[in-house]
Amino acid sequence: MNKTGYVYETIFCQHDLPEHPENASRLGAILDYLTSNDIISQLTRVAARPATPNELQRCHHPLYIEMVEDTCRYGGGMLDGDTYTNSFSFDAAIQAAGGVIELTKAVVKGELDNGFALVRPPGHHAVPSSAMGFCLFGTAAIAARSARRDLKLERVAVIDFDVHHGNGTQAILNEDPHIFFASSHQYPFYPGTGALREIGRGPGEGAILNVPLSVMTGDDGIRRLYDEAVFAALRRFEPELILVSAGYDAHWQDPLANIGLTLKGYQWLSEGLIALANEICEGRIVFILEGGYNLEVLAPGVGNTFRALLGINNYDDPIGKCPWQEPEVDSLLSEIKRVHRL
Ligand SMILES: [Zn+2]
Repeated sequence: MNKTGYVYETIFCQHDLPEHPENASRLGAILDYLTSNDIISQLTRVAARPATPNELQRCHHPLYIEMVEDTCRYGGGMLDGDTYTNSFSFDAAIQAAGGVIELTKAVVKGELDNGFALVRPPGHHAVPSSAMGFCLFGTAAIAARSARRDLKLERVAVIDFDVHHGNGTQAILNEDPHIFFASSHQYPFYPGTGALREIGRGPGEGAILNVPLSVMTGDDGIRRLYDEAVFAALRRFEPELILVSAGYDAHWQDPLANIGLTLKGYQWLSEGLIALANEICEGRIVFILEGGYNLEVLAPGVGNTFRALLGINNYDDPIGKCPWQEPEVDSLLSEIKRVHRL
C-alpha cells in the first residue's frame, strides 16, 4: 500500500455560493464518500498554509493579487460573469495554493509516495492578471513553479483532464520550457482556447500539448489519445514530477459539458498517469481538484483516484456505461503526432 497524502481545510468550504455549480457541497460529498468507504483513514493529511506573495507572484500580477485580497476584505463580489468571491475566498485560494505546494514538497522529498489536494476554489482558468471561470489563482502552475524554484527540479509536467481547457495554466506557462503542459478538453467550448496549434511560444514552444476533443468523445478515444500522444510526449519530456489538474466534468453525466468519459474511463486515466509516474519519475504525482459538477460522479470519481494512488486494485462505478456513439479520433491523433513530432 502506498503512503498517500491529502490536503483539506474547512476554509475551502467557506468560499461558497450555494446556487452556483462550483459550491462547497462538492467537497462535502467527496469527504462523505471517503469517510463512508473507509478511504480517508488510510490517508495522511498534510496541513495547508497560505501561499506567500512571492509564490503567488511567480504566476500572477501583484496588482491582481491585491485586488482579489481587497475585494474579499470588503465582503467579496463577482470578479467576472461567473466567478464569485465572499469574505473567505482570498484566504481559501491562497491556502489552496499553499496546500498544494506543501503536499508536492512532501512527495518530492519522499515523505509521501503521492497525493491528492482537495482544494477550492479551482485554479486552472485563472490567468496572470484576472480571475476567470470560477478560478482565482492558478494553483497547479503555482505549485509547478515552486517545485522548480524551491525544490530545484529541472522539469515538471502538468496534465489537465478537466473537460474545459486549462487556459489559465497555459497562459502562465506559455513561454516556460521547463514545465510541460498538456490539456484534453471539449473543443470548441468554454473558455474558447485550447486549439491543437497552441503549442507554447518562444522558449516554451513545444512544451504545450492541446488535445481538443469533439463532443461525445469517450473512453475509447480518450484512451488512445492519452496512450499514443500525451503519454508519449511525457516520456520524451522526462518530468521529475507530474501534477494533475483533475476535473471530473468530462463524465457523460456532468451537467456542464458533453464528453463521454465513464468512471471506468476515468479510472484508466488515473491508473495510467500513476503507472507512468512510477515509470518515469519515481511515482511522484499529485492530483489537484478542479471541476466536476455532478456529485454522484465527483465523489466516487475522486474516491477511485485515491484508490489508484493507494494501490488498491478496484473502483466504484454506480453510473455505468455511456450510451453515446463515439466519433473517430484518427485524424486528431495523427495531426497531434505530426505537430508534436511524436
Ligand atoms: Zn471544468
